[in-house]
Amino acid sequence: AVKVRPELSQVEIYRPGKPIEEVKRELGLEEVVKLASNENPLGPSPKATAALRKLDQWHLYPEGSSYELRQALGKKLGVDPDSIIVGCGSSEVIQMLSLALLGTGDEVIIPVPTFPRYEPLARLMGAHPVKVPLKDYRIDVEAVARALSPRTKLVYLCNPNNPTGTIVTREEVEWFLEKAGEGILTVLDEAYCEYVTSPAYPDGLDFLRRGYNVVVLRTFSKIYGLAGLRIGYGVAPKELVAELHRVREPFNVSSAAQVAALAALEDEEFVALSRRVNEEGKHFLYRELEKRGIAYVPTEANFLLFDAGRDEREVFRRMLRQGVIIRGGMGYPTHLRVTIGTLEQNRRFLEALDKALELKG
Ligand code: PMP
Repeated sequence: AVKVRPELSQVEIYRPGKPIEEVKRELGLEEVVKLASNENPLGPSPKATAALRKLDQWHLYPEGSSYELRQALGKKLGVDPDSIIVGCGSSEVIQMLSLALLGTGDEVIIPVPTFPRYEPLARLMGAHPVKVPLKDYRIDVEAVARALSPRTKLVYLCNPNNPTGTIVTREEVEWFLEKAGEGILTVLDEAYCEYVTSPAYPDGLDFLRRGYNVVVLRTFSKIYGLAGLRIGYGVAPKELVAELHRVREPFNVSSAAQVAALAALEDEEFVALSRRVNEEGKHFLYRELEKRGIAYVPTEANFLLFDAGRDEREVFRRMLRQGVIIRGGMGYPTHLRVTIGTLEQNRRFLEALDKALELKG
């Protein structure tokens, strides 16, 4: 038998939200609503779709470093385009960081529960994940600081945090970065930053501008509606980005993804609409859950963690049988995460939840 690296036995395979087509087939259902992967319920940015329709140069390799997109991002964000690295989703940037920075015996601090890609990529490299539990659903920066050791290489602060939707404030991030000091890289994963409304939320790029050792991760998968094209990016000190290019696949991001992202970036109308629909959906769900006496964690993102009050696996199955896919296995025995959808989707979710929890009928 082929022998793979021993580290692989420690690497968990990512379990994505169930695909709609699979559920339709398995359950023989006509209509299925998926609110499991924090995708944009409005679909893709129309400007991105229009730009994609004009594309026909499939026979050519893409520009490897996503040059044009980096120029546009640099301008929009007010950073040097050479401090930006583009990946097949921000997930690939997490992979590049792991490949470039981690080795056997290194430590990676991960507040948990959080986005489940940080840990397997650390393990793949033989590094040790040091997991720090959240406190009241929030990242506990003091506990994270206590976990720092001379072996710490990377610290992940997911802001807002998936699956809780909570943020770390400007003061908390700054306090932590001062504690962490020079040799440690802090990853500020801002996949959901466009949805945040709290004035206490920091723009991670400010820390970068002020010379702190941080990487800011952003994505086109959420508010821009391009999850299926796979494109996201990291902004980091230029010297680090230069190193990341050594581990980047030469043509990692497709020309389609680059063209769509460039167009989506200009689609301010779509971003504003997505934000508005999310705000309305969020407050609608707050009200409806309150009516039912269901506790939830107030969110700064496009998803909501709620406490179903019983085994999350059972609730997940009961929802699924009704053609509503949400997400369990979020690190709490009775909680599930639902993506905030359109008004119609949110209603379908509540109807199914009522039946799943036997609140009505
Ligand atoms: N970070 C966080 C916190 C996420 O929730 C996700 C997607 N679920 C990602 C990163 C990765 O997104 P993508 O690779 O599509 O950019």
